[in-house]
Amino acid sequence: MALTAAGFLLVETIGDLLQPTLMSMIVDRGVVRRDVGTVLRWGMVMLAVAVVGAGAAAMRNIYASRASQLIGRDIRSDTYRKVMSLGFDDIDRLQPSAIITRITNDVVQIQNFAQGLMRIMLKAPITCVGAIALIVMQIPEQTPTVAVILAIAAVLIWANMHVSFPRFLAVQRALDRLGIVSREFLRSIRVVKAFVMEHEERARFGAASRQFADANVAATRVNATYGPLINLSVNLGIVAMLWLSRAQDAAHIGALMASMNYMTQVLFALNRVSMIVNSATRASASASRIQEIFDCPAEFAERGGAHARRSRNDATAASSGRCPPPAVEFRDVTFAYEQAGAPALRGVSFAMDHGSTLGIIGPTGSGKSTLVSLIPRLYDPQSGSVLIDGRNLRDWDVDELRVRIALVSQKPTLFTGTVASNLRWGDPAASDAAIRRAARLACASEFVDALPDGYDARVGQGGVNLSGGQKQRLNLARALVRGPRVLILDDCTSALDAVTEHDVLANLRSLTGGGTTDRRDGMGVVVISQRIATVRTCDRIIVMDDGRIAGIGTHDDLMQSCALYQAIAKSQIGGDRS
Ligand code: ADP
Ligand code: MG
Repeated sequence: MALTAAGFLLVETIGDLLQPTLMSMIVDRGVVRRDVGTVLRWGMVMLAVAVVGAGAAAMRNIYASRASQLIGRDIRSDTYRKVMSLGFDDIDRLQPSAIITRITNDVVQIQNFAQGLMRIMLKAPITCVGAIALIVMQIPEQTPTVAVILAIAAVLIWANMHVSFPRFLAVQRALDRLGIVSREFLRSIRVVKAFVMEHEERARFGAASRQFADANVAATRVNATYGPLINLSVNLGIVAMLWLSRAQDAAHIGALMASMNYMTQVLFALNRVSMIVNSATRASASASRIQEIFDCPAEFAERGGAHARRSRNDATAASSGRCPPPAVEFRDVTFAYEQAGAPALRGVSFAMDHGSTLGIIGPTGSGKSTLVSLIPRLYDPQSGSVLIDGRNLRDWDVDELRVRIALVSQKPTLFTGTVASNLRWGDPAASDAAIRRAARLACASEFVDALPDGYDARVGQGGVNLSGGQKQRLNLARALVRGPRVLILDDCTSALDAVTEHDVLANLRSLTGGGTTDRRDGMGVVVISQRIATVRTCDRIIVMDDGRIAGIGTHDDLMQSCALYQAIAKSQIGGDRS
């Protein structure tokens, strides 16, 4: 399609280039010799060329816009797919809203360039070269003048590119910043209003916005100087040509007119070149930003999505040996976030059996969330190993792994849609009955049934129309729909009242197979909490302190042996003496 557009463009340009030559024919052969027949004949040819040129121009427009839209679409979807495969390290580093700018605005820059290139810009260099060739052919004496003009133009073009590239990069970066600031504000608009920080936020937004405007002005200023300089040099060139051709005889008047005409075309063409350079520089700045995304290594090389769902069932059968390996095992794991200096986890070792419950408790920032984020391999540890069913995480197919492990995170996430569509995220094929069962287990069915449309009730963006506790329960239900082997609750019962939380945990306990002789088929549950009451009934409890395990055992063990656990218990004694 791009080639077709270029073909039409070529026809159109040749048509434009022929016009002055045809005119010089009319003047030199017809007008000068007073031959009306010749004038009419060449006049007809000129008209025909003009019609063909106009037709080609119309077709080229249609094809060029279609082709550039397709280019934009392809780049966008490729980039999006790549972003989906990025590891959390890279997503943290690039920042989500800056990634959005890249997928949208930066792609549009490239698309504009492609469209411009096919519509007007490709024409400029062809016109330039063609017009110059024709001048040199018709009046060879003008060659040096033309060469000087071209040399000056080349220097100007090079300088323009050189100066504007970093400036366009700065424009896109300022756009990133604007996106980050406005996203942050929109996400936390309630907090901003509650703290009466609107003024500060407005100032922050104003600063980002001003930066963006300044960057734009700086980038355009370069181009504004470039245009007039080109005009000046070409016009001086025309004067020089006229000056030098004083001695030309009258028979060549047509040729001289044609060269003047060509010089004007060159002038227009060079101005267009300035646009190309501008747009190309801008597009290449954007391309380098998109390339940065592509340069990130994919999260994991091997991803076999196809067989992931199937093997959820196989794996259960596979673990029927004499003494099954633990569901989750950490061996001397140390992990540090890329940007952070100190490790968030140091020498963490523990094992968790199938069908058992594991509590994790500890002060904020002690590494609880980090610990569980290693289980579905959101991050890889720097040293030590994490094993699931006795197999190192690095040997697991990631999709297969993540189907088995459901992580309900600290911050509930819901998508625009209905209650049912949100729960089906866990498993698109889930039946209505399965969804209702999951909701019941998560103690969500009561409030869902009370909604005007029940399971078809609308959920706004991010679940704005639900309370914190309702969102938490829907998130939990979504994870249960999945039927995971290991369910991880990262402090996600914090917004529930004590009675509801107790009910939810009792329901989950019934899924672990606790109390029955064979727990191997039961679900393992990891519960993170800051409250002793939440974890005290767990089979084992890990006490985290500053990235280390300060104690492991049952509630009673820890009350005997772990000073930190005792301290936490003491501080909460009013709430849970039961
Ligand atoms: P907890 O869940 O126990 O409150 P976290 O596991 O969230 O603690 O955090 C442990 C430490 O790691 C903290 O010091 C925190 O600042 C740091 N941390 C958490 N997430 C990140 C991240 N994405 N990038 C860098 N540092 C992080
Ligand atoms: Mg946490």
